[in-house]
Amino acid sequence: MKVFRCGDVVPGCERDFLGADRDDIVRQVAAHAALDHGLPSVDDDLARLVAENIRDV
Ligand SMILES: [Zn+2]
Repeated sequence: MKVFRCGDVVPGCERDFLGADRDDIVRQVAAHAALDHGLPSVDDDLARLVAENIRDV
């Protein structure tokens, strides 16, 4: 499994996302970013930022 902690890129956010792979996590983060951070879409920069901060668990 892999984990992404939103707080690594958005200070103060406490959400963690567990997923089987990068695409799974990016999909979850996209929904969270839209709902909780007001970001309508995940562009390449954000997708890369997420990818760089995904860790194996
Ligand atoms: Zn967040």
